[in-house]
Amino acid sequence: MTMIGIETILTNQVVSALAASTFYFFTYLSFVRLLRYPRNWFLPSLPASLTTGVLAALTILLVSLSPDGIELPTLAISTGFILVLFYIIAAPAIAFQPASRQVEFLAKHGDYAGLWLIGPALLAALAISNIKLQALLSIAMAIELSWFVRLRWADRRRQPYPLENIDLSVLKTQAKGSLEAFRRHNGIRELMLSNGNVNWYGCGKGTSPCPFNLYVNRLGLNTAPCCREHMKDLSCYIAASLGEMGVVHWLEGGSLLGAVRENGTLIDWEDDIDISVLLDDEMTWDRLVDGLAQRGARDGYYVDAFEKKGLVSISFDPPKRWPFRWERNRYRGEIRADIAIYRKAISCEKAVLERQSEKGAMPNTESGGFGVPQEIILPTSTVSFVDREFSCPNQPEAYLHILYGDFRKVEYTYIDASAVNTRTQANTVDTCQRDS
Ligand SMILES: [Zn+2]
Repeated sequence: MTMIGIETILTNQVVSALAASTFYFFTYLSFVRLLRYPRNWFLPSLPASLTTGVLAALTILLVSLSPDGIELPTLAISTGFILVLFYIIAAPAIAFQPASRQVEFLAKHGDYAGLWLIGPALLAALAISNIKLQALLSIAMAIELSWFVRLRWADRRRQPYPLENIDLSVLKTQAKGSLEAFRRHNGIRELMLSNGNVNWYGCGKGTSPCPFNLYVNRLGLNTAPCCREHMKDLSCYIAASLGEMGVVHWLEGGSLLGAVRENGTLIDWEDDIDISVLLDDEMTWDRLVDGLAQRGARDGYYVDAFEKKGLVSISFDPPKRWPFRWERNRYRGEIRADIAIYRKAISCEKAVLERQSEKGAMPNTESGGFGVPQEIILPTSTVSFVDREFSCPNQPEAYLHILYGDFRKVEYTYIDASAVNTRTQANTVDTCQRDS
């Protein structure tokens, strides 16, 4: 930018306002893109964090810079405003892991919590007559309003799903009395109670996903019927895609556990689908990701890849066009399959299949990864899962034993301690009801 260019921005009101809005807009996009890391349980990468940080700093600098130098009140207000708003925006993604009460609270109201800043923004805009600051505050609030309206509009398409007896009994046990009070206290908007009927206001392709990882892992509920249906769809879709691409793959973790222990069904409190793939000279990382991303774009599944972590995540929600593509990272939940990458390796003179990230109690390999003896996985076998044949490890029980030890014993590993107790009680009731 030439000196004349910078001077124009600082003096021409319309140009100034446009520049400030544009800078904020790109900072916002960069920030919601950054949220893909916490919602996949990773720390944000350095380049992505730096990009967002630099964009935010430039936005603040542009807004605070006047021909007479930096305006300190504007600098303080724009910095404070962006920090608070981005904290609110990040809350649902941060709350993918157990978080502080404050973050949980903001996550619960994540579809409109940004709008709580309308009052402070108005006051600031009235108090300081700086067109650039006013433009920044306006576009930020306009984006928050549009996020809220679009979510509500999409969620009109939610359909009622009846709750099965087991799901309902778990729900009633965890609610410890009043369903209505439990619904209100935990902000479970999907729960519809009328005239003694209990329905689940279920998610679909076009709606926001149910935040079921919260309901499942923290409140100890069973996975919602809508989400379960979509998880089945997603797992069949991925297995078919990997089959078409000729990728060696197998059911992993909780999904394999459901196939083997729960007679081919999803575990009642399943929160994601786990499938693993074997990469080699033929099927490289790039080929795998390109193939999945192209299919996802065509068939309406969101694909995200983390090469350093050796993970591809595929979600049920369809990919949206730019600039809305990364706003999905503001969703409070997600129906997702994690595709973990394995490669052949030698560890302690034995052939193993090795992955980079930890999984269950999988032992360490010489190179610092995690691995399973090759003959336990290859050649893959098949198992019945969600009414379809899926590839699985050659010795599925031995595989599960490596991951979980005594895998036949039901353990509520993901659920909060207090929810585990009530959940165990609910399960005792289920077993009695099933037996009688
Ligand atoms: Zn759902």
